[in-house]
Amino acid sequence: MRILMAVLGWMAAAQTATAAEQVHRYLVGLDPALRTMTVRACFAGQPPDVLMVESYDAPGAFVEGSMVPAGMRKPIAPNGTEMRLKGVPENGCIEYTVNLDRAKGGHDHSGNSTKRVGRDLFTEVGLWFWRPAKVAPGEDIHISFDLPEGISVSAPWQPIEPRDGRPTYRVGRGAYDRPAAVAFGRFREVPLDVPGAQLRMAVLDGTPAANEAGMRAWIEDAARSVAAIYGRFPVTSPQILVMPGARAAEPTPWAYVLRGGQAAAHFFVNQRRPLAEYVEDWTAPHELSHMFLPYVNSTDAWLSEGMATYYQNVVRARSGAISAAEAWQRMHSGFRRGIDKSLKDQSLALATERMFREGGYMRVYWHGTAILLAADVELRRRSGGAQSLDWLLERFGRCCLDPDVEWTARKVFEKFDEITGTDVFVTLYEREVTSPKFMDLAPLYRDLGLVALGGKVELRDDAPSAAIRDAIMARGPYTTPSSLLAGKH
Ligand SMILES: [Zn+2]
Repeated sequence: MRILMAVLGWMAAAQTATAAEQVHRYLVGLDPALRTMTVRACFAGQPPDVLMVESYDAPGAFVEGSMVPAGMRKPIAPNGTEMRLKGVPENGCIEYTVNLDRAKGGHDHSGNSTKRVGRDLFTEVGLWFWRPAKVAPGEDIHISFDLPEGISVSAPWQPIEPRDGRPTYRVGRGAYDRPAAVAFGRFREVPLDVPGAQLRMAVLDGTPAANEAGMRAWIEDAARSVAAIYGRFPVTSPQILVMPGARAAEPTPWAYVLRGGQAAAHFFVNQRRPLAEYVEDWTAPHELSHMFLPYVNSTDAWLSEGMATYYQNVVRARSGAISAAEAWQRMHSGFRRGIDKSLKDQSLALATERMFREGGYMRVYWHGTAILLAADVELRRRSGGAQSLDWLLERFGRCCLDPDVEWTARKVFEKFDEITGTDVFVTLYEREVTSPKFMDLAPLYRDLGLVALGGKVELRDDAPSAAIRDAIMARGPYTTPSSLLAGKH
């Protein structure tokens, strides 16, 4: 009865919504064992002809569905990853149940799938989120969660005013096929305040339990280091998930950023490793640095990976987690790996396209990094230090991080040139992206006073742009507490 009242309430709300703001409302309920999900979707105006879902596991996990309310119940069922909504009236609703144990991980292009993390549950939304393929401007989707006692939710979308006391999110118009994950469980979502943002962090269950205060200190340090690049963290309320139970010698063997909703960072951690190892590790600065850019087409991953790889070194040098000399050494070692792993006569564009199949990650990551280093140096040189990549990203962050918009690397570089009033980026793009070789670093090294002695790099102060080199890695306004580096918190 309560649910029916709620449905009638939404229908009324949907009817009074103006044409400019058509909100499709989903209510997601769960059983206390986190095995069965009930989704009720109410459409504003004419329902879409068809709903889509991202995971190939979704049809198998779908149990049953029907139109609601009860008087007009008529079953609906998917056909593959599509579900026709024939007969659902204007402002009508559907309801369906999903068996969350039926996720097979058969489709996990994020490298991820629905799984238990201790007693908690990590779900790929493509398993259960049947949604319109296109959400037009003026339309939106809001999702609320009706959770059992003691169960929390972590979702990547924009949190908005709770509906009937339930956690509610604005999904936005991002493409249905962009991976996103929602976690449910007995965790507590912790707000982490850093300049310009409040990260929404959750540490999932593990045996032994992760040191939550330590994980919080680790992520907060990385986020503050990133925020110090231009004074604020680029994304206002990203989802941060820390998932214990990874089996590896290092603290964070696997992590990535997803782009369904706001940017979200997921860290799979070995919670047995000491805190100091997390703080020394490059993973968190890398993942959080991805957030300087919006979603860039995956065939252009050299740009997003290059940006994250460049800044994983820059932010740590700025915060004092590593010295400037060590940062340059790590860049040099990375460039060498990139050169080593470059296939003969293969362009950066092709290496990126084939990265997942051929494993040319080092070429893609480090050639991207080299392009951004060259651009940063050139901007600083031409402007006498008034401009830099940091300066540019701050301005780009003001105009261009709308999560609903998808970019190509070319478009990002054109925008960068527009903001800086230069041709630095498009020139590099045209020179490097189709080039059959890794970037020729010799002129850049000479200019910056980087002297390669095999695997080692030395810094010379009599080089023309030695001051630019030092400015790039100079200590910034935020310093990683020495107690953290010593593993205390
Ligand atoms: Zn990355």
